Amino acid sequence: MADIFRCMGKAAHVALCAIARHLRLRSNVFNHLLDDTPLPTNEVSSSVLVATYSNASLQNGKGAIGGGKPGMNAEVEKGLLTLVSSDSPGIQVCDPNGRWYVADGGSAPGDLLLLTGKALSHATAGLRPAAPYKAAPDYSSGISSGGRASLAFRLMPQGNAILDCSPIAAAGHVIPHSYVPISVSQFMDDLSAEEDVLGSRSDNTYVARNSLNKEPSLRSVLSDPVSGSFLEDAMLVSCGHSFGGLMLRRVIETSRCTLCCAEIETGSLVPNLALRAAAAAVKHEDDRRLFHNATVRKRRKELVDQMASRRPNKENGDIGDDGIRGVQYPFSVNEKVVIKGNRRTPEKFVGKEAVITSQCLNGW
Ligand SMILES: [Zn+2]
Repeated sequence: MADIFRCMGKAAHVALCAIARHLRLRSNVFNHLLDDTPLPTNEVSSSVLVATYSNASLQNGKGAIGGGKPGMNAEVEKGLLTLVSSDSPGIQVCDPNGRWYVADGGSAPGDLLLLTGKALSHATAGLRPAAPYKAAPDYSSGISSGGRASLAFRLMPQGNAILDCSPIAAAGHVIPHSYVPISVSQFMDDLSAEEDVLGSRSDNTYVARNSLNKEPSLRSVLSDPVSGSFLEDAMLVSCGHSFGGLMLRRVIETSRCTLCCAEIETGSLVPNLALRAAAAAVKHEDDRRLFHNATVRKRRKELVDQMASRRPNKENGDIGDDGIRGVQYPFSVNEKVVIKGNRRTPEKFVGKEAVITSQCLNGW
């Protein structure tokens, strides 16, 4: 399985590079979203390989590929892309015009089916939308061997990366307003939250899911579209619009509203206290949820670590003295760090020493 993981991982990387080049981007433009290759020992990859075998008579109760939700509803992958290899056709994909077709009908042994995911859709500002798919009922019932085996490799972005469309904008593509930069962990948490909401409804259809994606989220309305930070410093400008963070700076510098293009009297800015309070409340809610999710992720990683570190001569119950710990922050308060920065870090900060004053889980 380790060899298959490496092999399909490589193929997924190549496919991602090809997608980037096709969009007139550098082929390595998405590399910062991926785990290091090779991963340091003890690190768990964000990507996953799932092997499934489904009996024909049980097919109707299973998802199209491993780990999918039960039922015949359309599913959409969350990650960047998913490669599926199977011994017989069985996956229907929805084309951009809403027509379903059997996507792996003509594939030979060794062919891989590529499904685009929601993270890729966000990173490309919708230019490579996520493909809805479902199990094809006709094909699954007609298999003489009585079952279908498949391997699915899900290329997932690493949790602390930022999904950001600026390379797409730089290549001359138009970016709709709803595509704000967002950390991968937040993006995935949002998708899980959406699923929870939709899962509790009876009319769990693809249409409902799709329309939900197009509406701007509460978070995006309450955050600065440039930096992604919450509008806790929101100012009301003379046209009636409000801005905070880097977008506010831009509005002041240009004396022009970026939403309605009205000329702004920069001397008459008023703090928008209601918007600040709303942003602070949602941020607080978010932090609590992130804290919870980080605890769950950490526990899962520790369990994997424990399983890996168990030697054959160790007794089964012997886990060692570092069992389940709480959430681990990357740095402690008062610790000195050197700012490495990323593309959006102002140059004057890069390489400078900083002291940690408070702890935050999502790194923003
Ligand atoms: Zn305005």
